[in-house]
Amino acid sequence: MGFSKIKDGSPQHWKEKYFKLLDSQEQAEKNYQANEDLLCKTIVRFALAVKGFNKSLDPHLDRIRDLLKTGVQSQRLQKELQVFTNALMVLEETPVGSQGDTSMLFDFLGYQYPDCQTELQTIQKQYDGREIANPQRLFLALAELIDEKHQDNDGFAAELALADSKTISEHMIRLLDSAELPDLFADDAKQLKIRLQDGQALGPVFNDAVTLLLSIKKHMEVEQQEMADFLSTLTEELAELGLKTSGVNIANEDTLKKRSNLDRDVAAQMADLQKKSATATQLEPLKQLISTRLHSISQQLQTHTLQEQVERDRTQRELRALMQKLREMESETLELQSRLDLAQRRATRDSLTGLPNRLAFEERLADEVARARRYGTALTLAVWDIDFFKNINDTYGHKSGDKALVIIAKLLSRYCREADFVARFGGEEFVMLLPETEARNGLVMVDKLREIVERSGFNANGDRVSITLSCGLSQYVDGDNNESLFVRADGALYQAKQSGRNQCVLA
Ligand code: GH3
Ligand code: MG
Ligand code: MG
Repeated sequence: MGFSKIKDGSPQHWKEKYFKLLDSQEQAEKNYQANEDLLCKTIVRFALAVKGFNKSLDPHLDRIRDLLKTGVQSQRLQKELQVFTNALMVLEETPVGSQGDTSMLFDFLGYQYPDCQTELQTIQKQYDGREIANPQRLFLALAELIDEKHQDNDGFAAELALADSKTISEHMIRLLDSAELPDLFADDAKQLKIRLQDGQALGPVFNDAVTLLLSIKKHMEVEQQEMADFLSTLTEELAELGLKTSGVNIANEDTLKKRSNLDRDVAAQMADLQKKSATATQLEPLKQLISTRLHSISQQLQTHTLQEQVERDRTQRELRALMQKLREMESETLELQSRLDLAQRRATRDSLTGLPNRLAFEERLADEVARARRYGTALTLAVWDIDFFKNINDTYGHKSGDKALVIIAKLLSRYCREADFVARFGGEEFVMLLPETEARNGLVMVDKLREIVERSGFNANGDRVSITLSCGLSQYVDGDNNESLFVRADGALYQAKQSGRNQCVLA
């Protein structure tokens, strides 16, 4: 306020200052009065504008208007304003669902205030776009607009009263007739129509119409919520159903494709339903639509499940047939394997004595000769021949001859060392490979064997028959091959025969 400037204490100065202050005090009081008037007027207009818009606010508004008659200084007014603000806050805090259809209200206002068309459209857009968050704010915005445009009138209610009531009534009746109102509100709408036709005061009828509109809006919000809940449950159920049907093993690409087609179909139908429910104004037709759609979806699912079942059965049959075929092939393979084994054994074994045959011997001889050649180890070959075997066959029969062959084969294998190799060379001739054995030691060993056979004899048709063997031996020497080694042993055998049989001769 510049008190620091008053430095000298002259009375003139103080006087001047006093009058100045008085002037500014007067001015402030005038301003204050003007502000108070303005405030009163604004509050009254506001109270009129929002009256009827919400029943819980109306008593507050009435009390505020009464109190304004005695000016704004009243402490009761301040309290009342505070109470009203609190009530308004509570209203604003209640969640608002869909903004609802306000087209009827805007139609009416557009008709009533043709010069406000642009502003009305802006407000409607803001409301639809939720820039204006709830009906309370919407009505405030409308009241402000109308008040601003028609300063010469006493506000919204006055404007209504001055308008051509007949035209408004007719328009409202038309609106009520054309609006698709839920059955629940049919009676209220009818009452309103009667009142309009009777030419009752438009202000209260308009207020009631707005109240009805808001009730319808609220009702629809509840229905929409119900519908949203219903749809979300439905979606969950369908998803579960989808899960159940997708739990089965998917046999092939074709089935996969069919399933994804079905998924797409169902999703599209659900999306359509959701769209329709969002824009629906009546629950009944929507419910009908939903039940039709659901029926179609469930039929689609059934057909699909049936198709899948058929497909699955077919696949399983094919699978079983394939398994059967596989088992057959397996047992066939096993049989082939055992036949092959047998053939292999037959190729390398002598069927009568079970000893390795000549083929096996020749292979082994080649191996042992190669080994002796490479490592310089000793190798002795023995060639056996039964003495006068023809006589045994002739005397006791071929069968007894076979029996003698089997017995001799057993004795030869049993009494030779593990590392030695015994084979039936053919007819009544046997061969023996003695690896890492010097011929002199080999001679001692085979001679013992000869004695064992001689001593054992065999039983032919109850007769004890003595049987003897002759043996020729050869030892591997440098430069030997399979044949030369064998030829020398065979030569020694011939010598043994020549020397009177039942003896072993070293080449
Ligand atoms: P040697 O003392 O000179 O050897 O007289 P051998 O009678 O044993 O000799 P030979 O070659 O004259 O006779 C061999 C006989 O062995 C002729 C044949 O019938 C008989 N033989 C060959 N293979 C078999 C066989 O598998 N079973 C039977 N039972 N006899 C066989
Ligand atoms: Mg012979
Ligand atoms: Mg013989």
